[in-house]
Parts: sequence; C-alpha cells; structure tokens
Amino acid sequence: MIEQKLSQKSFSTAILNWYDKHARRLPWRSPPGERPDPYHVWLSEIMLQQTTVVTVGPYFDKFLTLWPTVHDMAAAPLDDILTAWAGLGYYARARNLHKCAIAISEEFNGHFPKDRDQLLSLPGIGPYTAAAIAAIAFDKSEVVVDGNIERIVSRLYRIDMPLPAAKKKITVRAAELTPLQRAGDYAQALMDIGATICSPRAPTCVICPVADFCNARTAEDMERYPVKAPKKVKPTRRAVIFWLEREDGFVFLRRREEKGLLGGMMEFPSTEWQEETIPVETAIKNFFSNDFQKRENRITEKAMVRHTFTHFHLELQPVVISIKEMDKFVLPHGQWAEPREFGRYALPTLMTKVARIVIKDRD
Ligand code: SF4
Repeated sequence: MIEQKLSQKSFSTAILNWYDKHARRLPWRSPPGERPDPYHVWLSEIMLQQTTVVTVGPYFDKFLTLWPTVHDMAAAPLDDILTAWAGLGYYARARNLHKCAIAISEEFNGHFPKDRDQLLSLPGIGPYTAAAIAAIAFDKSEVVVDGNIERIVSRLYRIDMPLPAAKKKITVRAAELTPLQRAGDYAQALMDIGATICSPRAPTCVICPVADFCNARTAEDMERYPVKAPKKVKPTRRAVIFWLEREDGFVFLRRREEKGLLGGMMEFPSTEWQEETIPVETAIKNFFSNDFQKRENRITEKAMVRHTFTHFHLELQPVVISIKEMDKFVLPHGQWAEPREFGRYALPTLMTKVARIVIKDRD
C-alpha cells in the first residue's frame, strides 16, 4: 500500500531533486531555490486560472510592460486593464485584478501580505490562489492543489471517489505530502510533472520521479484517475446580435453591466440570450423603436457565430443594419467605433468572432 512505501520526506526529496534539474522556465518564475517577485506570482496565478501557460505568456509580458509595479496597475483606469485582458476570458478576473491592485497599493503600501488568510481577504484571491502565492512567493508550507496536482495525487492513491466530491480527500492527502521547506518549489515541481509527465492521457511513467510511489502505475490503470462525475449536458442559448453601421463605417458598441458574465466588457447590442430561438424580424421589432423600423435601413443576416462558455453554448445570429438618418438615431450606454480601432476597446473573444464573421463575409 502507498502508506507503507510513501513517506513524506522521501516523496518530497524525489520531487525537489527532479525540480532542481528539470524546472520549466516560465516568465514569472525564478530559478529553483530563489523567490520570485510576489507581484509576478499573483499576476500569473490570476491569469492561469482556467487559461493555459502558452496563452498566458504574452499577456503576462504585456501587463508587466504596461504596469511594471502593482502601484502602476492600481493607478490605471479599469478600462485599460479590460482592454489589455481582452481575449483571456473570464473577465471577472480582470475586474478583481484591478480591485486587488488598488487594495495592495493603498492598504499594504504595495507589499503583498505573506499570510494566507490575509491574502484570502483580497478581491479575486480564493483558497487555491492564496496558498499558491504564500507558497511560491513566500515559501510558506501551504497546500497547493491545482488540476495537475489533483491528477497526480488521485493517481498516487488511486482515489476512487469522483471529482468534484473527491477534492477534500485529495487535499488531505496532498497536505500529508507537502514539505515544511521549499514548499513553493515543491508545488511548482508537481505542477510541472502534471503538465509534462503525468498527463491526462498516456502519462510517461517511465521518467516520472515518483513512479515508485504510485499505486495507479503499479495497477496500470493511470488513466482511470482522477475519476470524474458524468458531465451535465450544457444548454444552448440563442440571440440575434446587431452590427449597427453608420454611413461613415462606424459601428455601435455598448458596455455590458459591471456584474455577471463578460461584465464591464464592450459588445455589439443583442437580444437577451435565451434558449428559445427568436426570429430576426421579431428581434428587430422588439429591439428598435417604430420610428427606426419605418426607415429604409438595409438589413443583412450573416453566418451564425457559435461560442461555448463554462455553463452553456451560445448561438448568435449577426444582423448587419446599415443605418440611414443618423441624426435621429439614439441608443443608450454606447459609443460608435471604427472597426479598425476595435483593438482599443475591451472586446471579449466572442465579440471579435462576431466582428470577424461580419467583416469576412463582406470582403
Ligand atoms: S507514475 Fe505515472 S501515473 Fe503515477 S504520478 Fe507518475 S506519471 Fe503519474
């Protein structure tokens, strides 16, 4: 059994020896044994939530160029943060990033707290991120469990309980293994092993530094772990989205509500995202005033845009409306923008997809 052969000391020694030779070089990392800048650790950890290392790299560099210190980020307008974040998704992270930068700058004089509980009190920092910052930036012996570490631990112990219910059990096991010294290097080593060796499919156990400790390897059923609860079927929501274009080529953008999905980001106006299909004619009728409908605006439907969020699929039917008599046309909460200037606005990936379809279809 794993309990007999897996002592915490021998396990963490194997992990740290491996890390000293094979640590990945990442822009936010410092070499094994050294401590990185807490600002870099925090920024990277927020960006890496639900986003891959490859995607995060250029964003991390861009943010550090724009805002080299947490004070610089705190002083920036939220809109600049959202614009720089565009394309990374999960935009609540960007809003919380800004709030957190302000809190660190104003309440902590620019210094991140070392204590996990203090970190937890900051906007956008949950239990995982607090533990990761405390361990990686301050070498605190905190238990860090991300998706990679979850997979490794569930394989080491062949944990049969399905996720997410098994999270607690996995964390208890992970805590038993976490060393008192070099906890940050240890956590990053496990992340690296999960990313490069203990992959979800076909893990390369022959080069794994903890193969001797692994029950799933002995039983040759590695891919069975982590066991996952069956996925729920995602619903599909639908809407008609309006590309409102003036004669000079400017297009109407509006800002979404601060709270909720894509909060604070810019968008093309659309009908409500709902499961029932709404015909284009009805959408126009419900959305615009009678006066607008009486005018001879040119209306063209474009190819459907499909996008998937965490909890639902979305189908957007773009409708291009070339507007006449601009002086009479009023829409609240928005502004007109030239398509070639869209990069200056906080447009989420979904809206850039809509723009691409409309513009491509026209070329
Ligand atoms: S031995 Fe294989 S399954 Fe076990 S932790 Fe290493 S790579 Fe993962």
